[in-house]
Amino acid sequence: MKKITLAFLAIVMLLPGLQAKEGMWIPILLGTLNEADMQSMGMRLTAEDIYSANKSSLKDAIVKFGSGCTGEIVSADGLLFTNHHCGYSQIQSHSSLENDYLTDGFWAMNRSQELSNPGLSVTFIVRIEDVSAAILNGLDADLTEAERAQKIEMRIQEVGDAAVQGTHYEYEIKPFYYGNEYYLFVLEKYLDVRLVGAPPSSIGKYGFDTDNWVWPRHTGDFSVFRVYSGPDGKPAEYSEENIPLKPKHYFPVSLKGVEQDDFTMVYGFPARTQEYLPSFGVEMVMNVTDPIRIKARDERLRVIDREMAASPLVKIQYASKQSGISNGWKKWKGEIRGLERDDAIAKKEAYEQEFMALVNSRADWKMAYGSLLSDYAELYKQVRPLTVAVEYFGETGYALEFIRVSQKMLEATRSWSSDETEQAAAKEKLRTFSQNFFKNYYAPIDKELTGSLLEMYHDDVPTSYRPTILNTIEEEYNGDYASYANWLFANSAFMNQAKLEALIDNFDPAAVQSDPAFELMMSFFQAYSAVYGQYDDLETRIEALHRTYMKAQREVFADKTFYPDANFTLRVSYGKAEGMKPEDGVTYKYYTTLDGVVEKYIPGDREFDLPQKLITLNEDRDYGRYGKNGELRVAFLASNHTSGGNSGSPVINGDGQLVGINFDRGWEGTMSDINYDINQCRNISVDIRYVLFVIDKFAGASYLIDEMTLVE
Ligand code: ASP
Repeated sequence: MKKITLAFLAIVMLLPGLQAKEGMWIPILLGTLNEADMQSMGMRLTAEDIYSANKSSLKDAIVKFGSGCTGEIVSADGLLFTNHHCGYSQIQSHSSLENDYLTDGFWAMNRSQELSNPGLSVTFIVRIEDVSAAILNGLDADLTEAERAQKIEMRIQEVGDAAVQGTHYEYEIKPFYYGNEYYLFVLEKYLDVRLVGAPPSSIGKYGFDTDNWVWPRHTGDFSVFRVYSGPDGKPAEYSEENIPLKPKHYFPVSLKGVEQDDFTMVYGFPARTQEYLPSFGVEMVMNVTDPIRIKARDERLRVIDREMAASPLVKIQYASKQSGISNGWKKWKGEIRGLERDDAIAKKEAYEQEFMALVNSRADWKMAYGSLLSDYAELYKQVRPLTVAVEYFGETGYALEFIRVSQKMLEATRSWSSDETEQAAAKEKLRTFSQNFFKNYYAPIDKELTGSLLEMYHDDVPTSYRPTILNTIEEEYNGDYASYANWLFANSAFMNQAKLEALIDNFDPAAVQSDPAFELMMSFFQAYSAVYGQYDDLETRIEALHRTYMKAQREVFADKTFYPDANFTLRVSYGKAEGMKPEDGVTYKYYTTLDGVVEKYIPGDREFDLPQKLITLNEDRDYGRYGKNGELRVAFLASNHTSGGNSGSPVINGDGQLVGINFDRGWEGTMSDINYDINQCRNISVDIRYVLFVIDKFAGASYLIDEMTLVE
C-alpha cells in the first residue's frame, strides 16, 4: 500500500506545472510527500534520517539561533555555525574602539577566551506533532473571528501545557495554511551561547550593501559560537560551571563540496512567506508597503551612512542598526523589481480566473467560495489608506530611536509604586536600560531624522491620521521640522545620558510626563491606536478570507501538493546546485572563488577592502586541504526555496553532510517570498571549505577544525 502511495505521489510531483524544488516542507511529512522525490534527485537518506521522534536525526543538530536565524551544531562539544550577519549584533556588542572585532575579527584561541552573550539563546526542536484535530475539531462555524481566536488560544494552551508537563521543555503551537492546520513544536532552549570566532567584516560582510542580495557573491558570511549546558546537560543560564553541550547529533563536514546538479537540502527556520496572497495583496506590496519602507529608509540610510563614514565610533555604534535597515531596504527594492519583471499581478489574476472557473463549475463550491475575490477586493480597498498610515508610523515616528526611551519612561510611570524598595529596583532597571541605550546612540543622527521623518509623515499621510503634535509644529514652527527637532533635543532629557539618568535618580512621574519627547510619543501613540484599531479589524477579516481561500485552493486543485507558507518553524527545502540565466545573454555560474574575491578588492574601500593576509594566501595558492584544482570556492548558488530566517541554515548534501551555510538569495529572486519562480530564484550559500579555510589558514584557530568530523 505504502509503495503504491509513494509511486503515485512521485508521478503527481512530476506532473507539468508542479515544481518539485519549490516549497518549504514540514519535516514530519517528508516521508509521505517528499522522500521519493528527494531520493530521485540524489539524496541517499531516508525521511527518518532527517526527522525522527525516536532516534537521533539531522533535526537534532539544528537550532533556531536567537530570534531570527538558524544555526547548526558541528562538533560533539556544541560548536555551532551560523552567519556573520546573524551573530553581527553580538560581535558588535563586544566591539569598542580598542577591541574592534567588527573590523578585525575575533577568535577565541581556547575555551576560556569565548565571550558570553546575555540574552542570546538557541532552540532545538524536540518533536513536532500535527495537533489540528485537537485545536480545530468541533469549532462552531457561527463563531465570530474573535470568539474563534479565543477558543483556539485556550485549546493551544491546554494541548501545549499537557505536551511539556513535567519536563523542562517549552512549546509553541502555530497555525499552518492560514489556520486550516495546527502543529505543535516541543522546544528545548539553551541560554548559554558563547562567541567563539568571527572573521573581520572585510570577509564576513565583504561587499556590504553593494553585494548584499546579489550574485556573483564573495562573502564569507559565517560566525562561530558554542552552546553550553549546565553540568547535568540541561539548559542553564551562563555560569562558569557550565559544560559544552553534548548534542544528540552534529553535522559531519564534507570537504568534497558540491558540483553542478548535486542534490542540496536546506534545513532551517524560514521566517515568513506569502505565496498564496491574492493579486490585490501583491498589488499592495508593490505599490504601498514596499515603496513607503524604501522611501523612509532612503532617508534614514542617507543620514546614518554619512555619520558612520565620519566617525569610527559611530561606525561601531550603528553597524548593526544600519545592517538591519539596509537589508530590508535593498530586499524590497529587489522584490518590486522582480514582481514587475515577472508580471506577478497578471500571473496571480490568471490563476484566480482559473480558480474561479472551477469554483463556478460546482454548486457547493460556488456557494462557499463564489464571493471570495470580490470580498478581497472590497477589504483591500478599505485597508489601503490605513496601511499607508501604519507603514509610515512604523518607518518614521516609531523609527526614531528616542521613542524607545519615551516608551520605557511611559512604562515606568505606569508601574511606579509608592514602595521605596520597589522604587529603587525600578530605578536600577531604568539605569541599566539607559546605559545599554546610550552605548549605541548618537543623538545628531536622531535629531536630523526627527526633522525629516516627521515632515515625511506630515506630507505623505492623510490628515485624518495625523498626530495632533504635527499640527502644533505646523503652527508654531511654520512647518519647519528641523527647528522643532532642534528645540526638542535642547529641551528634552531623553536624548542625553546624563540628563536622563538625573531624571531617573529623582524619578517623578509628573516631570517625566511633561518632557517634550514624552508628549511627542504620546501624540503618536494616540493617533496610532486609533488607526491601528480599524486596521487590525480589517486585517482580521482579510486573514479569515485567507483561511477560506487556502482551504478552497486545496479543494479545487486537489491534485496539487500545497506547502504551507513559512512561519519561522522548522522546514526542509531541497533542490540542487545550479546557476541560472537571469536575462538574455547572461548566465550565472553556480560558484565563485577566492580569485574572484581578490578581483573585487579596492584598497581602503568601505565595502571592498581586504585583509592583506587573505590576499597573500591567495597569491601563494596556500589553500591547505580546502582548495581543489588550484582554486578555492567561496560561495555557491542552488535552487533551494529559502527565506529570511533561513540565514545560517545548514546546506546538506545527499549523505547528510554539511557543504555550506545558507546566507542570502539572488537579486532576481528577492521576490520569492511572494512569487517563487524557479527560473529566477536561487539561494546563496558560503562553501563550507571557505569557512574552514578562514578558520584554519587565515585565523589560525585550527583547534576548532580538530573537533569537527571532516569527510574527505
Ligand atoms: N540574507 C537574507 C536575510 O537577511 C537571507 C534571505 O532572506 O534569504 O534575511
